[in-house]
Amino acid sequence: MSAANIANVSTTTPAPSDFIRDIVAQDVASQRFAKIVTRFPPEPNGYLHIGHAKSICLNFGIARENNGQCNLRFDDTNPVKEDIEYVDSITHDVRWLISGWADQCLGQKTKGAVPTAQIFNDKPDFHIGAAPLGAPEVEAFFASDYFEQIYAYAQQLIKLGMAYVDDLTPEETEAYRGSPDRPGRPSPWRDRCIAENLDLFGRMRAGEFPNGARSLRAKIDMTSPNMWLRDPLLYRIRHVAHHHAGDKWCLYPLYDFAHCLSDYLEGITHSVCTLEFEVHRPLYDWILQSLELPRTLPHQYEFAKLNVGYMIFSKRRLLQLVEEGAVEGWEDPRMPTLSGARRRGIPASAIRRLAAIVGVTKYESVTDIALFEHAVREELNPIAARRLAVLHPMKVVLTNIPAGETWVCAATNNPQDEVTTTRDLALTREVFIESDDFAEIPPPKYFRLKPGGEVRLKYACIIRCDEVIKDAAGQITELRCTADLTTRAGGANVDKKVKGTIHWVSASHCIDAEVRLYDRLFTVPEPGATDDFRKHLNPHSLQVVTGKLEESLVNAQPGESFQFERLGYFTPDNKNFTPGRPVFNRTLTLRDTWVKPGQPK
Ligand code: ATP
Ligand code: MG
Repeated sequence: MSAANIANVSTTTPAPSDFIRDIVAQDVASQRFAKIVTRFPPEPNGYLHIGHAKSICLNFGIARENNGQCNLRFDDTNPVKEDIEYVDSITHDVRWLISGWADQCLGQKTKGAVPTAQIFNDKPDFHIGAAPLGAPEVEAFFASDYFEQIYAYAQQLIKLGMAYVDDLTPEETEAYRGSPDRPGRPSPWRDRCIAENLDLFGRMRAGEFPNGARSLRAKIDMTSPNMWLRDPLLYRIRHVAHHHAGDKWCLYPLYDFAHCLSDYLEGITHSVCTLEFEVHRPLYDWILQSLELPRTLPHQYEFAKLNVGYMIFSKRRLLQLVEEGAVEGWEDPRMPTLSGARRRGIPASAIRRLAAIVGVTKYESVTDIALFEHAVREELNPIAARRLAVLHPMKVVLTNIPAGETWVCAATNNPQDEVTTTRDLALTREVFIESDDFAEIPPPKYFRLKPGGEVRLKYACIIRCDEVIKDAAGQITELRCTADLTTRAGGANVDKKVKGTIHWVSASHCIDAEVRLYDRLFTVPEPGATDDFRKHLNPHSLQVVTGKLEESLVNAQPGESFQFERLGYFTPDNKNFTPGRPVFNRTLTLRDTWVKPGQPK
């Protein structure tokens, strides 16, 4: 398989089973729904990270496995923190992560389809997702496209006597709410009559009141042990334009109100989210049940978030890293974002593989980063073409090869391939080896090059170090060696054994490239668990070197993955890409530290 296709490689891990999939399977068996419809509902207030990928894989996976549909829906109810930049990056990242799945499960808005929701006195001006099969691309849904319908539902709640306009300030509202062990107090505005509530709510929409002057609240129970049922806010005034809805609104629904109704409007059957929403579920159900809606109601299910050691998944903290310049931006290859992972050369299939391995449970835990890295190596090993590159070059002169003479050596592209293919490397008088593959004073059991010692140049021949040349300061400038050309493939002494084999490139057949050696962004497994996460930033998370790469890499393209032999997996940087002079990012080294549970360490 071509390395360029890494984004399309799907994991061979079988479809997982878990408690949410069990529920879906029962609903399929009982034919409770005509079609299973899920959604992935990010707020566009940051870039997606590997944690989100678990939710994407679960929601799109359920749709995919059941011939259903999954809608990418922006939960865009808070325009203050949201931005079109995030909408674009999220759409791109979801597309990337599920490419290979996309044909089977994507929700697609079909303009002109039969409207399925007729709500009160409002024009039904939207259509629910349809035609999942063959959907070419992710087409995003926006909660803000439903603002008109959601507003109508709010009016309906007012008419039912189940919502009221409150004049308390945000601070007063908070004080009246009480605390988990102390009941709240009713607002003095709680018993306003329906007509007054409707009138005020209309004037809130019309822009008559400043931010925070009034709010719409559900009338539930100020003494409920569940704080979310203590007359939660449904709407607040925000005189601010919206990245998707424009300046049509100065009144925005809160997440809890918009979310369940968006689910209902889209015909979502299983609204799957993370555990922190468990306490919101009674409110989710209360809103939908209070409105006496005609169609089957969606149901919310919760699972534990993905956490991975040495990573942080809080958007607020990630934004802090970006704003404080600790990283190059959201797409920095050290970031746990999907765009950072892509730029680092991590294939989408590896992230899907991780999601499949960790599974879906109700128990919070921290996944070992070594497991993630193992999943990445498992995906890259079969597809990454092997290449030779020297990152800390030391010059070697093969004194018995005349200048200008070239010996062609066949190098295997990938030993994992079913049918072996090779490429030609040029062995010339001057080559580079890795400086730490030579030791002037070798420690015991040092099998690489040493004065008087022999080593094999991979795919070429055995060389012997005859002389070490130094400058006036005592620094080694070159090694003078003899190449035993009879040990080349097809040569009389090809079977001669030496203990060490090292990589190399020809000095006249290589290119210089900037190579970025990335390491973990943090030095501890749980940064910020007890103190400021920024204290644990790894000062050595990026080292930049100028490497010597075999010349075939001059044509490497972003999206391709290579294994630089003995060094690790690398990919051309997709941001600083100049044809002919690639910049390479190290995805990972080759050393896999993952130990399967039960295996000796
Ligand atoms: P915040 O709410 O702080 O902005 P968030 O990460 O929860 O951050 P959302 O945009 O609300 O961001 O997340 C979209 C969806 O992804 C939600 O359904 C959420 O439950 C899910 N999600 C977020 N983080 C994780 C995680 N670490 N593991 C699995 N799912 C996650
Ligand atoms: Mg959230």
